[in-house]
Amino acid sequence: MLEFHKKNQQNPDKTEPEKRIKDFQEIYRQFDQNTSIEQSSRCSQCGVPFCQIHCPLNNNIPDWLRYIAEGRLKEAYEISTSTNAFPEVCGRVCPQDRLCEGNCVVEQAGFGAITIGNLEKYLTEVAWEKGWIKKINSSSPNNQKIAIIGSGPAGMAAASYLVKQGYQVDVFEKNDRAGGLMIYGIPNFKLDKSVVERRTEWLSESGVKFHLKKEVGKNISFQELEKDYDAILVATGVYKARQLDIETKNIENSLPALDFLIESNRVGLGDTPSKNKFLDAKDKHVVVIGGGDTAMDCVRTAIRQKAKEVTCLYRRNKENMPGSAREVLNAEQEGVKFNWLSVPSKIISQDKSASSLAYKVAALGEADETGRRKPIDTGVEKQIKSDLIIQALGFEPEDLNQHFGTDLELTSWNTIKVDFKKFQTSNPKVFAAGDIVRGASLVVWAIHDGREVAKSIHQFLENKLVKKKAS
Ligand SMILES: Cc1cc2nc3c(=O)[nH]c(=O)nc-3n(C[C@H](O)[C@H](O)[C@H](O)COP(=O)(O)OP(=O)(O)OC[C@H]3O[C@@H](n4cnc5c(N)ncnc54)[C@H](O)[C@@H]3O)c2cc1C
Ligand code: SF4
Repeated sequence: MLEFHKKNQQNPDKTEPEKRIKDFQEIYRQFDQNTSIEQSSRCSQCGVPFCQIHCPLNNNIPDWLRYIAEGRLKEAYEISTSTNAFPEVCGRVCPQDRLCEGNCVVEQAGFGAITIGNLEKYLTEVAWEKGWIKKINSSSPNNQKIAIIGSGPAGMAAASYLVKQGYQVDVFEKNDRAGGLMIYGIPNFKLDKSVVERRTEWLSESGVKFHLKKEVGKNISFQELEKDYDAILVATGVYKARQLDIETKNIENSLPALDFLIESNRVGLGDTPSKNKFLDAKDKHVVVIGGGDTAMDCVRTAIRQKAKEVTCLYRRNKENMPGSAREVLNAEQEGVKFNWLSVPSKIISQDKSASSLAYKVAALGEADETGRRKPIDTGVEKQIKSDLIIQALGFEPEDLNQHFGTDLELTSWNTIKVDFKKFQTSNPKVFAAGDIVRGASLVVWAIHDGREVAKSIHQFLENKLVKKKAS
């Protein structure tokens, strides 16, 4: 260990931009054994591991890095999986530069962070290859039943812990595939769908029952679940797209980001392409509005669909973008243009079809409540040719109470109100986790919530049993 001053930081090879834009394959390759040993041995094994503190799952990173460096991969994997239900997913999609790696002491000292995410991915892929990931055997099966609404990372992580505790776990999912945004939001070039499908199969083999195309509030009522199950977990995510301040209604070639990404992911999974020609960027001048990771996913998808030109329009500058710096760099390398400090002002259209987008050039003023500097109008207006406009401005919760016919207490942001220690809602039998309690967040936080809510549900049901026996 402590080799950071002798061995340079190394990341796995990345497919060249001109090659990778020809398909939707993951762009990062995987470490081999020698490189993983070398890179793990750079860890300084600090007494206060800031990487661990800044990992939402509080993964015991220094310990599993030491075991990788010593070639004790099985033990390393056991430590890694003891806190993380899906480490191979986090290794691929966590914004490590803001979490574990960004806070690594070796990084702070100027030697370049330990490449934790890629090592986590390597370790878990080895565990799959070697057959160390076995179907979950429940410790003591019982006949209590739990309904999980939503099969995203929060629902799937919770299911893995609850089935292990012996509960009968039924996951209700409105879509035709399980995985939530890991399947229909995040593109393949960041997270191959087979990685998610492998986990769904693993859960099914372990006894979790997935009920696909079952929308709670439509195909089955919330009240039926309340009657039939001992506890309910709401893990439905947030899907209401934030709107632009300008008129976009009735413009058929202006769409929300998720419509575009879902279609691309569906086609990648082998589904028949939709008849809506605006869901394909081929030969178009595409303008994506927004500066977060969803915007980066859209621009990079449009490039792969062979758009004529792809521009990202963002109202602040590069330094004040909310998205991951790694994803912006990947987009730039792939040929995406960025118009910083640009605020859309009007869609120029004819017969319901946009031909260009007018935008105001902004300057940066004082910092707002998020700490990022606010754009101010400079009075200069410009136009950009655009025959496909994609709006990637973030997501908000839908009105779940109306959909479910419930009266769960909500926050002022319309997320479900929970006590963050127990993830219990105002109805004691109903728990909630993931984006529906946090607002649009990260996969790793959803996995964290799935783990913590499973403990809380278990405790709730144990207490119920004790009370029943005592009465
Ligand atoms: C385009 C995009 C890219 C992203 N990229 C990243 C990234 O690179 N890294 C990262 O960490 N995070 C990323 N995120 C965020 C991350 O995907 C989410 O934070 C995470 O998936 C939230 O998990 P969840 O389980 O709470 O909800 P979701 O993943 O949204 O899953 C909720 C599930 O509930 C289902 N559902 C909803 N209502 C019902 C109902 N009434 N009945 C039955 N089922 C229902 C939905 O169909 C869905 O399958 C991205 C998000 C988007 C949109
Ligand atoms: S889960 Fe995410 S934040 Fe935690 S160690 Fe892995 S990559 Fe880093």
